[in-house]
Amino acid sequence: MWIFLNDRFVPKEDAMVSVFDHGFLYGDGVYETLRAYGGRIFMLRRHLARLRRSANLIGLNVPIAELDWQPLLQEAMKRNVLSDAYLRITLSRGEGDIGLDPRLCPRPTVVIISLPLQPYPVHLFQAGVSLTVVGVRRNLAAALSPQIKSLNFLNNILAKQEAAQKGAFDGLMLNAEGYITECTTSNMMFVKEGCVCTPSVACGILDGITREVVLSLAHDEGFPIQEGCYTPDVLRHADECFLTNTTMEIMPVCDIDKHAVGSGVPGPVTGRLRELFRTKLPRFLE
Ligand code: PLP
Repeated sequence: MWIFLNDRFVPKEDAMVSVFDHGFLYGDGVYETLRAYGGRIFMLRRHLARLRRSANLIGLNVPIAELDWQPLLQEAMKRNVLSDAYLRITLSRGEGDIGLDPRLCPRPTVVIISLPLQPYPVHLFQAGVSLTVVGVRRNLAAALSPQIKSLNFLNNILAKQEAAQKGAFDGLMLNAEGYITECTTSNMMFVKEGCVCTPSVACGILDGITREVVLSLAHDEGFPIQEGCYTPDVLRHADECFLTNTTMEIMPVCDIDKHAVGSGVPGPVTGRLRELFRTKLPRFLE
């Protein structure tokens, strides 16, 4: 397996990062997860724009020019003989002395990992996944903005751990005011009387790229859309619920805190959006 590290591809065994890397010491860095279908990357430019935004928000210089990313990602897939791939770009503050000051790190660390895509099991798409509303609240936007796709992932890890302890597939996090935000690596949408509803970005979520694609598909199909602030009790009366992210696309939810959502999975709107996602996919590949 070949890994891109800083300025070259190296075998996995040689892909070593210093113990003084501030990504390791402090979670100081950002990342993106991308997916390729037949060697073409889903919404590449949007992912690169978000990487740049995350980096800007933490004052980190992206040491790779915009136009160089695509050839690098293509090379990562080619070297590893991949066509349907999981790609992860990690950008850390880099190696530096102990201390929080980013100026201690003269050069960011860049890593590209490319792996064969491990799709979610088909039975999950057929039966849906279980969620639980976790006690761990989503990071307060004014403390650590969820719009920074940060290496500092403990907020989500604690929520995932709590969900696993409760036997759920994932945890739905609320914000400090008690409104629904998102799951640990996905955005959440629900359907009520044909309307596709989802927490607005102002609730403190990562503005997922799949979320954006699904909302545009829903809009083009004529489904009413509502982005707003919702308390968890609305989910008790939802007709359908589903999750979106780059690697799972659209995943139906069958129950939330053991309370069945709607009557059967996937519901008609979820099913239609999944169908549209698949048929229109080529237009989202770069
Ligand atoms: N929300 C969080 C917290 C995430 O980590 C992710 C993806 O990793 C998403 C939402 C979905 O984002 P995208 O659709 O861009 O993959």
